[in-house]
Amino acid sequence: PARTRFAPSPTGYLHLGSLRTALFNYLLAKRTGGQFLLRIEDTDKKRTIPDAEKRLFQDLRWAGLEWDEGPEVGGPYGPYKQSERTDIYHEHAEILLKSGRAYRCFCTAHRLSELAEQRSKLGLPTDYDRTCASIPKEESDSRAAQGEKHVVRLLVPDVYPQFVDLVYGNVGRTLKPGRRGDEAYEDPILLKTDGLPTYHLANVVDDHHMKITHVIRGTEWLPATPKHLAMYEAFGWTPPEFAHVGLLTDQEGNKLSKRNFDTDIASFRDKMGVFPEALANFVALLGWSHGSRSDVMAMNDLINKFTMKFTKGNTTVTLGKLWFLQNEHARIRTNDGGKEFDEMVDKVVELVSRNSSLRDYETILEGRSLRNYVAQIIRADAKNYATADDFVSRSHFFFTRLNHPTSVTDAPGIPTLAKDLAEIPEGEWQLDRLKAKIKEITANAQGVANPAKEVYHHLRKVLADGKDGAGVADIMAILGHKESLRRLGVDEC
Ligand code: GLU
Repeated sequence: PARTRFAPSPTGYLHLGSLRTALFNYLLAKRTGGQFLLRIEDTDKKRTIPDAEKRLFQDLRWAGLEWDEGPEVGGPYGPYKQSERTDIYHEHAEILLKSGRAYRCFCTAHRLSELAEQRSKLGLPTDYDRTCASIPKEESDSRAAQGEKHVVRLLVPDVYPQFVDLVYGNVGRTLKPGRRGDEAYEDPILLKTDGLPTYHLANVVDDHHMKITHVIRGTEWLPATPKHLAMYEAFGWTPPEFAHVGLLTDQEGNKLSKRNFDTDIASFRDKMGVFPEALANFVALLGWSHGSRSDVMAMNDLINKFTMKFTKGNTTVTLGKLWFLQNEHARIRTNDGGKEFDEMVDKVVELVSRNSSLRDYETILEGRSLRNYVAQIIRADAKNYATADDFVSRSHFFFTRLNHPTSVTDAPGIPTLAKDLAEIPEGEWQLDRLKAKIKEITANAQGVANPAKEVYHHLRKVLADGKDGAGVADIMAILGHKESLRRLGVDEC
């Protein structure tokens, strides 16, 4: 069983890319009967957004990703918020200082920036020159004890440990950590001058102590992985497996960002009205290939089908696919008829009753229940349901009286169409009867090249303002006897 984690920093809200990372980790844990952890990486206080944490919890839960261990639910390896684990990181920095795998660096910010400037002028790498690595341990200890400002740096090995990424294989970048000739070393900072850990230290220490077996994260972290592996090695720990997944881009190949794409999960939910299961389905398909025939999958299907078959490289996001999946999930909700279907109905009912231009529904319904009426409409046209707003506008003809300027009784070629339909008594005005009647009318039509086409076209025009969607027999059954005949221009007697 895999233990995985989603480790967001509360510096922003959940977006398409981070939801995908969370989902892949969730699916792997669930697929293998393991645990999915949530850990808040709030080591960067300056960039923390006050309500980000709350929103992350909300948005993850909305999308169906409940965590087995983490904030609010607890677990055996907590706390699951890095700002509450500072002592643990100190102890670990101390371990590496003792073993000589880390050293204190007393260089001032001023010296470091001058160094970087000089070196970049010479066209050399601007990493640290390791001046402080040669300070004897006793001197370093006493300077620290006297309160001299410093950071703690990892002394990286001459050659980074090799690793096999589950997506990228043998990562070609067996980074040379430092080029001795240039005297520049990528000795990452573990503890900052304020005593707080960096992402690198906290992330590695936590993944180890939380017994994480697999790390699935974005390729932007790939360059950091050799440093992390050097830390595992320095501590004498076995590292987890890593799988780095490509970036999400727009159609021009630009990384998705606030500027080119609204990727905030809350806007998919609140502004666009996307169902959580449709969004999870959509996000799962971004850079993961499954072997099944259909792309339409509920969370359970995603879990059952999940393998770590990720595609290399970046993934283009297009919303067409999202709306396709939304339609499909609308159909599934409708067939299931559960509380998710009720939610769809409620939203449409609310919009219709708030919209003064749709007031006619009261006369059309003549006391029938609006809720039942709407439920019938959705059932008849579920595959076209995307959002409540859109559905109301495509179904407007159910709620407004259509005014036909000319006589509507004549379907060219089939003059008796309306009269024939009117033969069905009110009590038998039901779907099957209507379908049978239409069949009969078409079969008996004479002297028309394509009577079925003629009939359907005409009925759709007069009943539904020519709009496509539900079948015409469905429309008549839903509108009811009286309103259908009115639209067909048959006077009731
Ligand atoms: N806190 C990092 C982030 O916000 C986690 C990266 C990782 O998964 O290691 O993306």
